[in-house]
Amino acid sequence: MVTRFAPSPTGYLHLGHVRSALQGWRAARRAGGRFLLRIEDIDPARCRPEYRAAIEEDLRALGLDWDGPVRVQSGHLAEYRRALDLLAGRGLLYPCFCTRAEIAREIARSGTAPHPARPGEAGPEGPVYPGTCRRLDPAERARRLAAGEPHALRLDMAAALATLDGPLSYEEQGRGRLRCDPARFGDVVLARKDAPASYHLCVTHDDALQGVTLVTRGEDLRAATDIHRLLQMLMGWPEPRYAHHPLLLGPDGKRLAKRDGAKPVRELLRDGLSPGAILALAEGTAPPA
Ligand code: GLU
Repeated sequence: MVTRFAPSPTGYLHLGHVRSALQGWRAARRAGGRFLLRIEDIDPARCRPEYRAAIEEDLRALGLDWDGPVRVQSGHLAEYRRALDLLAGRGLLYPCFCTRAEIAREIARSGTAPHPARPGEAGPEGPVYPGTCRRLDPAERARRLAAGEPHALRLDMAAALATLDGPLSYEEQGRGRLRCDPARFGDVVLARKDAPASYHLCVTHDDALQGVTLVTRGEDLRAATDIHRLLQMLMGWPEPRYAHHPLLLGPDGKRLAKRDGAKPVRELLRDGLSPGAILALAEGTAPPA
């Protein structure tokens, strides 16, 4: 059993984090396995080193200890690049030069098309990309690349799905096998203009590299699992099991997150709450403070 907690250091540790971490930590400790800590700081605009330090400090304060060194994604960019190069070498990626505004204009102009492309329809990550740069004339594409025009790398979803032998699914703890439908994302971005690789690529790369066998995370990331299973199949990476936990809700029934006024763990500790009380809050076995 190898589990992990993989926060992005974009803020202080909060109860939702603690729930994911605790679930992974317990599963590993009960099975005599390993619990890993990984810092997913691939987005330079949103991540800050002081949050990383604070997250580690708060986990320690709660008694959630991890095994081995912390993997920090920003230190492994060449590894993600290699994975992208492999996909590109198989013709599964293309450069996308579009700005958000251009994408919105193209969606408005072209209307919607039939499934599975469904450009413009709301996918789990927003409107599905209309495929403008997938259809770019090769000479035009080469010219813009040679000119150093900033671009993202998108997965050619139809081409990627065509490489599969059958439908995709994953094992959700306690629920059996669940079917995936990655087509609803359209051509997802695997490397952004402003970040060298995307969450989807890095998380699946690292889960494979680190031998993670059970992924514990919030229900909000369930949809992303469809993309993750696709990437695992494309890259020949092993398939972990998944346990998506319900999101913590505040007394008003809304998602308990920092923006809703929920206090970060360090403030709860400062208020005098014991680590045990904070773990109980995170698991929903005590009413929110
Ligand atoms: N880094 C992601 C986040 O903080 C979570 C990654 C995962 O557990 O798959 O939202």
